[in-house]
Amino acid sequence: MKAHIISIGNELLIGDTINTNAAWLGEFLTGMGFDVKLVQTISDEADLIKESITQSMEKADLVISTGGLGPTHDDITKKAVAELFDVGFLRDEQTLEYIRSIFKKRNIPFSKSNYAQAEVPKNAEVLFNKAGTAPGMLFKENGSVLVVLPGVPHEMKYLMKKRAAPKLREIFGDLQFVYFHYIKTAGIGESTLSDEVLGDLSEYFTNGVSLAFLPSGGGVNLRLTATGKTKEEAKGNLNDLSELIYTKAKKYIYGEGKDYSISEAVGDLLYEQGKYISVAESCTGGLVANTFTDVPGSSRYFQGGIIAYDNAVKHQQLGVAEDDLLQFGAVSKPVALQMAKGVAERLGTSIGISTTGIAGPDGGTDEKPVGTVWMGFYQQDGAHFAVKTVFTKDRLMNKQRTMMVLMEITR
Ligand code: ATP
Ligand code: MG
Repeated sequence: MKAHIISIGNELLIGDTINTNAAWLGEFLTGMGFDVKLVQTISDEADLIKESITQSMEKADLVISTGGLGPTHDDITKKAVAELFDVGFLRDEQTLEYIRSIFKKRNIPFSKSNYAQAEVPKNAEVLFNKAGTAPGMLFKENGSVLVVLPGVPHEMKYLMKKRAAPKLREIFGDLQFVYFHYIKTAGIGESTLSDEVLGDLSEYFTNGVSLAFLPSGGGVNLRLTATGKTKEEAKGNLNDLSELIYTKAKKYIYGEGKDYSISEAVGDLLYEQGKYISVAESCTGGLVANTFTDVPGSSRYFQGGIIAYDNAVKHQQLGVAEDDLLQFGAVSKPVALQMAKGVAERLGTSIGISTTGIAGPDGGTDEKPVGTVWMGFYQQDGAHFAVKTVFTKDRLMNKQRTMMVLMEITR
């Protein structure tokens, strides 16, 4: 079943408001089993609204529009839809009564434009809106279904979930269940993972099974999708592909689930081993500590950190030798090693990790260009090493990538 989304509103086109409605609807409709084919953003203009809706209703089984249902003169979606279907308006008594009760509660006078809020095109099925004053509407015309929703995100979500979705399930009785499975990888680029590690997987793409590569924050997330009559059936259709990916890319996989982060994976390993970690950060300025502490329960393995941005802090708080700072510079292997060991010893943890680099965008030399980062790892009675990487000229990206690679090393 094909679906189109039409986002209506001048504020979306001039970049005033980010179109979060379309993103949310895309996910929600896909989860319901619709195949979202098009998202279109248009201005509050009657001709354009009519043209877009007409075209989409010709091509899609379901069309959802958001925005332009308010009482102000710039909100014209309802009028445009009535014109499109060539029908007049009816007053929806339930909505009128509800709006009246809200105004009474707030003690504000009821004006003419508020009556208009309760009017709907004659052929509309009203989606009663308890979250606001503008009702949503559902139309069945020419073999397609149009759902018209307000633009305010929480109202739109409420109407979609509570009012429209049950009706759509009834109308489109044979919707397939869509199941998503996320496999999270790090330490490898998207193209190498796809071309060299996994290779051609197209023979697995049957029964609605598909695979997407989603680079994110220095790692690559694999999204496996399958459809079926039930969740179990959809899940079952993914087994073969999922198993194959685990066999081929095991080395790079740190976990699964959409929101499972690499810092959580590192934390889970540390917790299993009963170990504590501490961090000494220069170029990342606390990002590594922040990332660890984003995870609830991180106090079970994360001890703390020292932000040693200035050389004096590296020396005084972490015991990095002044001679080494002078001779090799702050962005160097000996300094990264000493920072990692220094923080572990001072905070009493079995593992210490460190970052020191040139985040950019300026600075750097031929020998150490912008984006050069040393990352240190120290384990009491165990490994002690440092790794160098040269990232980009983008400061925030360098910090993010450093964090990611450091987590990968630690894992
Ligand atoms: P209301 O009846 O509350 O006036 P409406 O249907 O008229 O609702 P709009 O006037 O178009 O909605 O937008 C109301 C608010 O919702 C605006 O502040 C706008 O920024 C926000 N909004 C509208 N469309 C979107 C969208 N696609 N994504 C995110 N926010 C949106
Ligand atoms: Mg608007």
